Amino acid sequence: MDHIFIENLEVFANHGIYEEEASLGQKFIISARLYLDVAPAAKDDDISRSVNYADVCADIDRWMKDNRCRLIETVADRLAKKLLKELAAVREAEVTVKKPWAPVGLPLECVSITVTRKWHTAYLSVGSNMGDKEKYIRGGIDFLKGNDSVRILDVSPLIQTAPYGNVDQDDFLNGAVKLETLLTPHELLDLCHEAENAAKRVRKEHWGPRTLDLDILLYDSLVMDDADLTIPHPDMTNREFVLQPLSRIAPHAFHPVCRMTASQLLGKLLGRNGVEEH
Ligand code: ATP
Ligand code: CA
Ligand code: CA
Repeated sequence: MDHIFIENLEVFANHGIYEEEASLGQKFIISARLYLDVAPAAKDDDISRSVNYADVCADIDRWMKDNRCRLIETVADRLAKKLLKELAAVREAEVTVKKPWAPVGLPLECVSITVTRKWHTAYLSVGSNMGDKEKYIRGGIDFLKGNDSVRILDVSPLIQTAPYGNVDQDDFLNGAVKLETLLTPHELLDLCHEAENAAKRVRKEHWGPRTLDLDILLYDSLVMDDADLTIPHPDMTNREFVLQPLSRIAPHAFHPVCRMTASQLLGKLLGRNGVEEH
């Protein structure tokens, strides 16, 4: 992908673990590789469709001076995310923070940290089967919107469905959400749990009634499985109430394990069931 490269911008600032670093300050050297498609700007020869690197340099300089972090890991992470949030055209940022005067006590050219951060595309399923279900779902989506590392791109129409698993409970309202995020999968899961907690969800039994349930279906083309998180969601291919809303907003969303799109998975499930479940 095209990129703009800001190389070795010198800034005097006060980041560091040691007291002298915070009080006296030192030199930092910042590089930023900003990935974007420059074709629209090039076509019209129009800077408003690209990134004004003079403004970005001034912005980095100001941010470095106005903030204090102990670690250059933190500086690099926060700078990369700040640039991604503020520069609409930029999809991915690689930021290097060098510390030429690092207090190491040995001759050394510099120490540096490089991080790469990007906007990831994720799909969630949302469900509720208690109280004002639509209000809980809309409230949950608003909760996600309140995080500036999340941008909601699309929300499917909500559908009413019969309960899954323990069937002795109220019908569900279900939907799917497309978003882009700077959060890692685990950070996104934590945010989903915070939204569920804000909806006063009580976990009594698996598949029991709930005010709000937010599951991560897909996250880019990631395949992962650990104690807390499985992506793609392991049961999404068996659930019409997941695949139907997902197909409405993203028929071409690709399941990286089944190697099928959402609408192909829905077709397969309905073909298998013969009839719609609800
Ligand atoms: P199901 O996951 O079968 O739809 P559920 O949504 O009712 O069941 P919960 O009680 O909401 O299950 O979640 C139990 C745990 O599942 C969560 O605490 C989380 O750690 C784990 N989990 C694993 N993979 C995912 C995922 N892709 N999305 C959300 N939670 C997940
Ligand atoms: Ca669920
Ligand atoms: Ca869940």
